Amino acid sequence: MAFGFAQAFRTLGKLALAGAIGAGLAAGDVGAEQKTPSPGSAKALFGGAGLPTRGPAQPIGFYAKGCMTGAVALPTDGPTWQAMRLSRNRRWGNPAMIALLERFSQDAVKYAGWPGILVGDIAQPRGGPMLNGHSSHQIGLDADIWFSPMPARRMTAQEREDLPFTSMLQKDKFLTVNPKVWTESRARLLMLAASYPEVERIFVNPAIKKKMCDTWAGDRTNLGKLRPIYGHDSHFHIRIKCPPGAAGCTPQAPVPAGDGCDKSLAYWFTPAPWAPPKPPKPGAKPPKPPREMMVTDLPNACAAVLNAASVASMQAATYGGPSAASALAAAPAAASADDTDEALPDVGPVPNDKPAIQ
Ligand SMILES: [Zn+2]
Repeated sequence: MAFGFAQAFRTLGKLALAGAIGAGLAAGDVGAEQKTPSPGSAKALFGGAGLPTRGPAQPIGFYAKGCMTGAVALPTDGPTWQAMRLSRNRRWGNPAMIALLERFSQDAVKYAGWPGILVGDIAQPRGGPMLNGHSSHQIGLDADIWFSPMPARRMTAQEREDLPFTSMLQKDKFLTVNPKVWTESRARLLMLAASYPEVERIFVNPAIKKKMCDTWAGDRTNLGKLRPIYGHDSHFHIRIKCPPGAAGCTPQAPVPAGDGCDKSLAYWFTPAPWAPPKPPKPGAKPPKPPREMMVTDLPNACAAVLNAASVASMQAATYGGPSAASALAAAPAAASADDTDEALPDVGPVPNDKPAIQ
């Protein structure tokens, strides 16, 4: 690599706190600060939609600003996957995303030596901004996969609520993968996910990206799809391209050429992304808190999506048909904000020049 991580570490040597911040942020113990969305906000309305719309599947808008029609649900169980945190009702996605997850889970067993995968959040039934935890996942083309392998037995709904996340990072070191937890099979799983042409980005913690840059000895063609971002130390996030013919879907700029093991990664190992916000100048007005997103901030079609007729039932809209729909009931507990490792912090160490929402 052309730049010196060692140098970056020396720079950070004095920032004892940065270690704690980096690990803390990455471990995701900041989400609990999120406030409850107000009634009428886009989060409240889309978060309250229990079933998808009827009709053809269409992603509408952008990954971090949009909604969807015609979503299908990933069955709670398949031979090679189990869906997690069922109470959140976020197993919904564009059929292209759900089909990819099924195929990926099979390939993970066949080619990456995995017993099966645990699938985290995909999207809400009609997409849109989530009640908590994510800025993207709004158009059914994003999905979170746990770094923990699927257990050999079928977990109960309660176990799927309670199974703790396992961070791949060392708690007492700044952005460092824990060699006791990280395995070659996890590296294989990531590169398998990156190998599909429809996958356009995979978000991982910067420490994991660095580990891949330093150790991946196989074909590096798709390594550039692995993008470093906050959190994502106990799960990774697969984003697929706008499916062919999805006219209302706004594509993201392609990832830059190369393996991404360059200065765009080195940036994460500098103090800048982890620095606390600058204090306001004496006498200056305190900055306004960001305005809540309203339905009118989303593409126009999203208002109609909220009001459109529902499918008959969750079973009717489950991928693979009603027979694939599991009777495994969601636990009644409301989704809590404290177990996501995706949220950007509302308080605490907010980066000054944090990268644009991805
Ligand atoms: Zn995600």
